[in-house]
Amino acid sequence: MKTPHTALKNTVVLSFLILTFLACSSDDNNNYTIAPPETIPKKADLSHYDNGRRVMMQAFYWDVEPRFEWWNTLSEKVEDWAATGVDRIWLPVTTKGQSGGYSMGYDPSDYFDFGEFDQHGTIPTRFGTREQLENLIQKAHNNGLEVIADIVLNHNSGGGEEYNPYRDKNTYTLFETINGNASGKFDRSYEDFHPNSLHEHDEEALFFEEQDLCHHQPRVQEWLWKGENSVARYYKNTMKFDGWRFDYVKGFGAWVVKAWNDEVGGFSVGEYWDGHAPTLVEWVEASGSAAFDFACFYKLDEALDRKSDLNVLEGNMLWKTHPEKAVTFVANHDTEKDENPENNISAANKMLAYAYILTHTGYPTVFYGDYENNNYKSKLKNLIRIHNSIATGDMEILHQSEEEYIMKRNGSNGNPGLIFYMNIGTGNRQRTVLSNWKEKKLVDYSNNTSAWLTTDSQGEVTIEAPARGFAIWSVSGE
Ligand code: ZN
Repeated sequence: MKTPHTALKNTVVLSFLILTFLACSSDDNNNYTIAPPETIPKKADLSHYDNGRRVMMQAFYWDVEPRFEWWNTLSEKVEDWAATGVDRIWLPVTTKGQSGGYSMGYDPSDYFDFGEFDQHGTIPTRFGTREQLENLIQKAHNNGLEVIADIVLNHNSGGGEEYNPYRDKNTYTLFETINGNASGKFDRSYEDFHPNSLHEHDEEALFFEEQDLCHHQPRVQEWLWKGENSVARYYKNTMKFDGWRFDYVKGFGAWVVKAWNDEVGGFSVGEYWDGHAPTLVEWVEASGSAAFDFACFYKLDEALDRKSDLNVLEGNMLWKTHPEKAVTFVANHDTEKDENPENNISAANKMLAYAYILTHTGYPTVFYGDYENNNYKSKLKNLIRIHNSIATGDMEILHQSEEEYIMKRNGSNGNPGLIFYMNIGTGNRQRTVLSNWKEKKLVDYSNNTSAWLTTDSQGEVTIEAPARGFAIWSVSGE
């Protein structure tokens, strides 16, 4: 019974607690105040506070199994995800890559082979057939979910060999029906890659040097986004994709993403892998697209895993200046397979990191491997419910120190908002803060503490958070 403060405010509760405590068996190691059931205020039904915000599901992890079954696997999930509060699913690259049935799609060969042509050793992609993909998209739409395509524009793989005069040697830059482009759409050859008659290379770093697509080539532009039969139009109008996740946007100019979106519109997020927030700001301003908030990701990793210092969270993150352009995340297909601990958030700290992104502004992504992990699933569902309801209104940092971080969302129009209390210390912590709620009973919507509190006539209240954990306080239901 290490946190008796709620009880101290209420002698009746205190006496109950003593009785409860005496009645507890020795295997009861709950550190929190255990109030008699009839006195615990109820949680509000958060669906009454629906703020309209939702989250995106990253619907894959690296090397998903079993192969050829992924679209069917996802089709089984979309109903649950929609009911949980997801509004978009980000699919892995849907077209044929050089590694055929093993490809995760980042080695794009034929932009129009959705698992229907026999090439690179397989008809279906690693994820299944075109028909299975179309069924998935249809089912997602029936459940009100948008479907986001993963688009690789930087480089190609799996072409045939040809003499390339710009390199004075043979390169694998020939893409035609019998050379990795069975669809016969968007045939390519060395003029479409760097170097070519236009220039040596594009604006940004070289990657996949010999098959680095040149987006300045008029015919490349025509095939990728401008033309009647462009990839962008086909994905949107024929395949019915609703938006885009652009891969490796560091590898080419921001204008490419802007041009694509100007042509076909839809939700758009770029993978600009850089933890420096001003660099992300520069890219979102130039492209007009949202970006994954790698600055937030790395600050969370530093604060939680590397330094155990929540003061790090004071640093720059994209969501702080561009909340509408920041897609926040805690894990993705790359970070989760990265053996460098600096590139992933440890399992021990994962829920802290999710609680952070799901209570702040920005558009959070939930990673399939986390959501479908039974250690996390019910916790993530609950956090998503909180995000989609009481994580509303202006933010105010009420306290920040090495081991504690307290943030208030002010709510709006009858929505009470919340107070998020993160504690990375080894003991339970309490702190008196000024809430917006006067003489209200508060409960912890995270379910991490069973205590309940009452605010005074000024709104002052002593809140608590468990050791290496968090609590999310808000007013109880009637
Ligand atoms: Zn170029």
